[in-house]
Amino acid sequence: MKIHEYQARQLLADAGVPVPPGDVIESAAEAVAAFERIRRRVVLKAQVFAGGRGKAGFVRLCDNADQVRQAAEFMLANRMVSPQTGPAGIAVKRLLMAEAVDIAHEYYVGMTIDRARGCPVVMVSREGGVEIEQVAARDPQAIIKEWLHPLASLQPYQIRKLTDALGFKQPDPVKAAVKVFQGLASTFLEYDASLAEINPLVLTTEGRLLAIDAKINFDDNALFRHPEIQAMADPTEENPNEIRAHQAGLTYIALDGNIGCVVNGAGLAMATMDLIKLHGGSPANFLDVGGSVTREGAIEAFRILLGEPKVKGVLVNIFGGIAKCDLIAEALVAAAREVGFKVPVVVRLEGTNVERARRIIAEAAIPGLVTAEGLTDAAKKVCAAV
Ligand code: GDP
Ligand code: MN
Repeated sequence: MKIHEYQARQLLADAGVPVPPGDVIESAAEAVAAFERIRRRVVLKAQVFAGGRGKAGFVRLCDNADQVRQAAEFMLANRMVSPQTGPAGIAVKRLLMAEAVDIAHEYYVGMTIDRARGCPVVMVSREGGVEIEQVAARDPQAIIKEWLHPLASLQPYQIRKLTDALGFKQPDPVKAAVKVFQGLASTFLEYDASLAEINPLVLTTEGRLLAIDAKINFDDNALFRHPEIQAMADPTEENPNEIRAHQAGLTYIALDGNIGCVVNGAGLAMATMDLIKLHGGSPANFLDVGGSVTREGAIEAFRILLGEPKVKGVLVNIFGGIAKCDLIAEALVAAAREVGFKVPVVVRLEGTNVERARRIIAEAAIPGLVTAEGLTDAAKKVCAAV
C-alpha cells in the first residue's frame, strides 16, 4: 500500500525526523489563503502516488499569491506525466504547501528490504535529489548501505557510519542526522514498510538538516496489524480494477496491453504473459485467481476484464490442481450470460475435473468462446484473434 507524501512526512515527523510543517490543499483559493498565513516563499507540491514531480513541473517554488494561484491552478487542472506514471499521466486532487527552504546540498536516504540478504537495508548517498535513479545506475559506489537486524534495528555504530558517509562534520547536522536515521528505521520497522525514502534530505544554507520529501510503501501482507495505516489509504489513487479484484480475493495488476488474462497461480500467470508476448501480443493485466478461487470470484474476474474497454481478447488459462476446472467453466458460462463476450475469449483448461469442464462449455455453446489445446495453441489463438 502507498500513502501520500504529506502522510509520510507526518509519520516521519512523529518519529522525530525534522520535517518542515505543511498544509494540505484542494483548491487554488485554499492555496492562496494558506500562503497569506505563511507570507514567505513556499513550495507547492502535487500529492500523487508517483515521483518525478519536480521535473514534471509539479513541485513549484512561489514567492507571492499570484504565483501560488497559478501553480495551484496548473497542478489541479493538468494531469502529471513523469517516467513513473505512464503516458496517460495522473490527475492531481490534492497539493501540499510547505515553507520553502534554501538548499545547500541534497542527500538521499532510503530503506528497503534486501531480498538477497533477507533483512532491512538503509541506503544513503551524497548525490540525492531528482537524479538518484541515474546515480544508482551509473555509480553504484555512490550509494552506501548498512544492513540491520529487524529486531535490533540500527545500532549506534551504524548510524555513525551512515552519518560519516554523508560527510557531516558540524554538531547540528550530525545530531539531526541521528534523528533522521533513528526515525526512518523505527517507522519502517514499526509499520512493516517495504520502502521508505527521504529524497532529498537537505542541508539548508543555515546549516539545518531537513527531510523535504518522503515516500513510504507498506507490505500489504502486514496491513492487518496496522489499522492506522489502512485508514490512510486513498482508493482514488489506485486503479479501480485493482481495488475491485482485491475485494474479490484476486491478485490483479493492470498492464498496458490489450489481452486480458485469467490464470490460476502466479507462476502460470507469468508464463502465460511470456507466451502472449512471444506470439506477438501484449497482456492487459496480470490476474491470479488463486487456488481456492470461488465461482463468484471467477465471475468477478471476467466482469472486471470484460468491462475494460482496452481489452480486445481474453485468454483463460487454468491448470486445475486445487482449483477445479468445472468451477471455472461454470463461472465462464455465467459470465458469458451476464456480461456477454463482446471480444474473443480463448480457453485452455487442464487438470482436475477437466472432462466435466469441457462438457459444460460444449453444452453452453457460448458465442465468441474458442477452446485451445495446450498453452502455445491458446497464446497463438488469442494473439491472432486480437
Ligand atoms: P519529486 O521530484 O517528486 O521527488 O519531488 P521532491 O519533493 O523531491 O522535489 C523535487 C525537487 O524540488 C527537490 O529535489 C528540490 O531540488 C526541489 N525542492 C523541493 N522543495 C524545495 C524547497 O523547499 N526549496 C528549494 N529550493 N527547492 C525545493
Ligand atoms: Mn523526491
